[in-house]
Amino acid sequence: MPRNGEINKEFGVYKNLCCGSEIIIPEGVTFPDCPRHFNLTTEWKFITDTERIPHAGELKPKRPA
Ligand SMILES: [Zn+2]
Repeated sequence: MPRNGEINKEFGVYKNLCCGSEIIIPEGVTFPDCPRHFNLTTEWKFITDTERIPHAGELKPKRPA
């Protein structure tokens, strides 16, 4: 199972094990830290591929508030 800091090799929805956060991670992108547990190692479980179309609200670009 991939951990944060590793490069994603398969586009899809991933869920992290410590908090259950589900995010879309495109291919070639580094798996992020857990949103709640920075600097801790977490594993990302592959949930599904493109069968599930994400809502626009789930794709939150990182912008300053
Ligand atoms: Zn967490």
